[in-house]
Amino acid sequence: MELWFTEEHTPNVRFSLKVQAHLYSGESEFQKIDVIDTLEFGKTLLLDGLIMCSEKEEHTYHEMMVHVPMTVFPDAKRVLVIGGGDGGTVRELTRYKTIEKIDMVEIDELVVEVSRQYLPTMSCELDDPRVTLYFQDGIEFVKGKEEAYDLILVDSTDPIGPGEGLFTKAFYTDCYKALTKQGILINQNESPFYEVYRQNMMKAAEKTREIFELSKVYTFYIGIYPSSLWSFGFSSKGLDPVLDMKPDRFHELGLDMHYYNTDLHAGAFMLPTYVKKLLEE
Ligand code: SAM
Repeated sequence: MELWFTEEHTPNVRFSLKVQAHLYSGESEFQKIDVIDTLEFGKTLLLDGLIMCSEKEEHTYHEMMVHVPMTVFPDAKRVLVIGGGDGGTVRELTRYKTIEKIDMVEIDELVVEVSRQYLPTMSCELDDPRVTLYFQDGIEFVKGKEEAYDLILVDSTDPIGPGEGLFTKAFYTDCYKALTKQGILINQNESPFYEVYRQNMMKAAEKTREIFELSKVYTFYIGIYPSSLWSFGFSSKGLDPVLDMKPDRFHELGLDMHYYNTDLHAGAFMLPTYVKKLLEE
């Protein structure tokens, strides 16, 4: 009997994956957690029935979250990751030997435990000596931090449940205060394509623009997400993601990538016309 997993992207659009095994199913106080092994995307993490990341495509997401800001601010030394329970964002950060401190604040310890057991290619660097794991709400953690971090990467779920507060003006303001003068915030910024995700994207972009001296949206394609067109926000106190990028610093590291490159970095900020109109750029 064939086994399929289906995610509802909108009331009118469903996305199905053929599954060869349902490896884990459990529930924490925050959410339902599943790991399915799919024929096309490999092992895939689900939270409350929504696809988070898959072995086949997670590099796209984690590389675009980490190497864009690191190529703009290669001397970043202290990084805060909020969310990121699968470990992929931390893994990409640990590839920079110049980074001295990585704090990861994940509200749900069970996500980390499950990722350690079933997603070792993502969670493999969580024990790097520079990494400190905090199992608490990132919203509370960042409150009152003054110029403590060079990068803050909000690797969150959608703005529902525990993730809802990570899309508020108050949270972004606390992130602003917690960043150094050259600091950069990257936030998971949903998608311009389907209505619900589009509203989330526009609201998040509007809020970061009100708080940061510079705030831009960049996009990339990730097939397993609703519409495949996804976005992150890049917000800073002045550094421009394209004008201030330092490709030579990135290239001299000789890091082997799957998705990111410095040409694509610049291109990611060149948005489709309908997205520019949505963001009034
Ligand atoms: N990195 C994945 C990807 O490639 O798409 C997806 C994101 S990661 C699994 C999202 C994490 O954010 C989850 O582990 C969730 O528990 C965590 N999270 C949600 N709300 C949070 C909060 N308020 N504070 C800290 N972590 C939170």
